[in-house]
Amino acid sequence: ASGYSLLRDPIYNKGLAFSEKERDAHYLRGLLPPALLDQELQERRMMHNLRNYEVPLHRYIAMMDLQERNERLFYKLLIDNVEELLPVVYTPTVGEACQKYGSIYRRPQGLFISLKEKGKILEVLKNWPERNIQVIVVTDGERILGLGDLGCQGMGIPVGKLSLYTALGGIRPSACLPITIDVGTNNEQLLNDEFYIGLRQKRARGQEYMELLDEFMYAVKKNYGEKVLIQFEDFANHNAFELLSRYSSSHLVFNDDIQGTASVVVAGLLAALKLVGGTLADHTFLFLGAGEAGTGIAELIALEISKQTGAPIEETRKKIWLVDSKGLIVQSRFESLQHFKKPWAHDHESIKDLYGAVQAIKPTVLIGTSGVGKTFTKEVVEAMASFNEKPLILALSNPTSQSECTAEEAYTWSQGRAIFASGSPFDPVEYDGKVFVPGQANNAYIFPGFGLGLIMSGTIRVHDDMLLAASEALAAQVSQENYDKGLIYPPFTNIRKISANIAAKVAAKAYELGLASRLPRPKDLVKFAESCMYSPRYRSYL
Ligand code: NAP
Ligand code: MN
Repeated sequence: ASGYSLLRDPIYNKGLAFSEKERDAHYLRGLLPPALLDQELQERRMMHNLRNYEVPLHRYIAMMDLQERNERLFYKLLIDNVEELLPVVYTPTVGEACQKYGSIYRRPQGLFISLKEKGKILEVLKNWPERNIQVIVVTDGERILGLGDLGCQGMGIPVGKLSLYTALGGIRPSACLPITIDVGTNNEQLLNDEFYIGLRQKRARGQEYMELLDEFMYAVKKNYGEKVLIQFEDFANHNAFELLSRYSSSHLVFNDDIQGTASVVVAGLLAALKLVGGTLADHTFLFLGAGEAGTGIAELIALEISKQTGAPIEETRKKIWLVDSKGLIVQSRFESLQHFKKPWAHDHESIKDLYGAVQAIKPTVLIGTSGVGKTFTKEVVEAMASFNEKPLILALSNPTSQSECTAEEAYTWSQGRAIFASGSPFDPVEYDGKVFVPGQANNAYIFPGFGLGLIMSGTIRVHDDMLLAASEALAAQVSQENYDKGLIYPPFTNIRKISANIAAKVAAKAYELGLASRLPRPKDLVKFAESCMYSPRYRSYL
């Protein structure tokens, strides 16, 4: 290829890092100014530029531009500055980007499959330039983060998640495919927005929706084979549970909002046991919010207790209680409950509010997954602290404004006794002369390593035991030094190592269950995971 097109190909472009010899060999003379800047220097320059932007969205746009200009530099930045850049390429900034996608839209990313493509989805997949796809992240845009229905503009989510698959889990960028399925939107503001990029119609439901999804799932398997991982992301719960169960016995499917959340939270709970003592079975759990996150976590806790004690899951569910918008989920509500709530309808008188439920149930662990902020009030936290020496409080709702309580509130209202983690990050808090560092139950701890484990072992189905293996692997990465600060998650700086460990444990479980197809099984799975991981260092083109 000519030097000119080399500079414009994001996969190969190195900008000013092309060496003298490469400039000669690839017809680059004169197309670049004379200076040579190595990748480290380029990285420092780019980070400096990013830090100068005051508006987070401008940082996001700068990162997207870099991804389209120089892919390796983009991933080098993301890997080396993960704590700083995660909130830029992912939540919370990606949420704002999705809301404004129409106006910041420059070049298309990923694949758009709309109702217009019905009957032609296989052909659409063939339009994508890469043949060897290992991970697809797909959304229908109906429940983007805590922002609701953003229709076709939800594309920012699969793009962002997949960049984390590469940066944190080491999946090759070319093996990642972001997809948005557009069946319309019920967001009036978007429907009336002249810059809206999606189908201008109300959402298709029922049979029309399912037919498109069925065709899509069939086409994916036909085109990429049985080992491609399909991650469902940010579907509304009325579709999410159904799609997961519909395809889980025919495809390698994973729902991060349900399963990834569950795995990361169970990891935090297992780690927290080191601080509070006892086993999971000794605890009583109360959730505020009984949707994808709440019931997903609850089910995985029940499964883990069942594994540990040998008790049937119908029994272990009984120490887990959930409150939804109508109050405590109890037997008398059974008939009117959505099916994913039915397993949690225990025998109890009805209770309308969280505080009442806290007093009646006396949980040792309180978990917020309702998406509604400021719901762990002073009286709720004080009640938790009155019957627990170390109350475990997880405020998982995102973004920060929706958090059930702040880290400071949790520590202050419990006189520094709470063990606290949240969905959105909070700064360390000083209370009574001691510094508390709140952990962040971020799904990005789990899904990249989880996906790597599936892919490197050639696994063909996701099994709940693999989610638990991932939880245990993550919990094992929390060090004594982390515990001393009250942390129940390890710092993100070591995430590639953490991901390799998670991948190894997930793959080991896949081999054990007979679901892995890469044979023979590598002896050292951690080493093998590390050897599979994409490196963003420039390569020589001589
Ligand atoms: P979802 O499926 O829509 O579920 C929301 C649940 O909250 C529903 O059960 C709903 O009740 C209940 N709810 C809503 N308002 C309530 C109120 N005022 N009082 C009591 N319950 C109320 O949503 P999701 O996917 O589970 O996500 C929920 C939240 O968790 C979001 O903020 C999300 O950002 C967060 N999340 C965090 C993480 C993480 O920290 N890693 C991961 C995933 C999700 P009804 O069923 O009665 O409507
Ligand atoms: Mn999500």
